[in-house]
Amino acid sequence: MKTDEQIFEIDARDYLPVFARYKIVLDHGEGVYVYDTQGKKYIDFLGGIAVNVLGHGYPALVDAVASQAKKMIHCSNLYYTKAQADAAEKLAARFGGGKVFFGNSGAEANEGAIKLARKYAHSISKDKSEIICAWHSFHGRTLATLTATGQPKYQEGFGPLPGGFSYVDFGDYDALEKMVNEKTCAVMLETIQGEGGVHVPPKDYFQKVRTLCDKYDVVLILDEIQSGMGRTGKFFAYEHFGIKPDIVTLAKGLAGGVPIGAFVATDKAATAFHAGDHGSTFGGNPLACAAANAVLDAMTPEFLANVESAGAYFREKLEALQKKLPWFVKEVRGKGLILGMEITKEGRDVVNACLEEGAIINCTAGNVLRFVPPLIITKAEIDEVIDVLERVLPRFA
Ligand SMILES: *Cc1c(COP(=O)(O)O)cnc(C)c1O
Repeated sequence: MKTDEQIFEIDARDYLPVFARYKIVLDHGEGVYVYDTQGKKYIDFLGGIAVNVLGHGYPALVDAVASQAKKMIHCSNLYYTKAQADAAEKLAARFGGGKVFFGNSGAEANEGAIKLARKYAHSISKDKSEIICAWHSFHGRTLATLTATGQPKYQEGFGPLPGGFSYVDFGDYDALEKMVNEKTCAVMLETIQGEGGVHVPPKDYFQKVRTLCDKYDVVLILDEIQSGMGRTGKFFAYEHFGIKPDIVTLAKGLAGGVPIGAFVATDKAATAFHAGDHGSTFGGNPLACAAANAVLDAMTPEFLANVESAGAYFREKLEALQKKLPWFVKEVRGKGLILGMEITKEGRDVVNACLEEGAIINCTAGNVLRFVPPLIITKAEIDEVIDVLERVLPRFA
């Protein structure tokens, strides 16, 4: 048995210190609760950062992983598996056709999407390579995806970065229109910005972006790694805006916690890739796909309706808190169960105080409390977190 103190010591000595961790050691979870090694119970409103969409220990997901593990964990993409075919069929059906590719993470999904967009654009013209991204976006930590990420703090020290990326304010259509031309290969955006502080664009933004991209044969890539998988009450967040991208990327919640990433491209965009153009050893292996199948099967219309009503209820409660502390809470925003509460102070101490009180929440962009709980959350469980916030927030206000 290792004590928590021993675990902290080993981590400090042997693990790369890239994470600013909170000082608890988590042991197991059940539903929307997790337990640390001291037996303390926490309500989990972070869900592994929008990953544990079915919470912890969801029977159909656990059974799917266990039975697939017994049959076969991995086989090469040189062969077919039913689990992968099932997952591809389900995702393509949600997208409305097209072609699916599986990788192992969000960054890999975006990396693949960028490669496909470049190959497609180069088939039109060899100078068609510019990729326009948004400030405050987040697309991952590989060299291309951190370059797509419009936040200099993630890029400093890693140059030279891949060329051909530029940035525009998210939600500002006029600014985007000025930048797009024949040399534009792709516009790459999150449908709702997550890490950047939970930003939802104006209602008509994506329709105009879609029209602009069509005019110049520009590939519209929507990164739904955080906002997709039912998070907003629709399977894809773009469905709220009445458009469809040329490529959508998914990861986080797709297999409920088993590492996976995917992009889905329209048949037209997908024509640019041929055998050997892209690949992955682990990507889409039967274990990850069995988990994805269980998650995709769970996301019925009733499931999504619950996300919508739970999200509306949660938002109402957060707005009520804002009314009580208007000088402290600047704004509540988001859609479904990706909600942000912008406060006038740094959020880290608030997050720590909530942890003390038994609630796991998160802060992003410095001062935005972010809530991305499991999508199976109930109103009673939302009330528990609201109770914690009601106790904690006034201490900082
Ligand atoms: C988390 C995230 C990524 C990166 O995913 P990883 O699995 O950490 O590589 C990319 N885009 C968005 C919108 C994300 O939220």
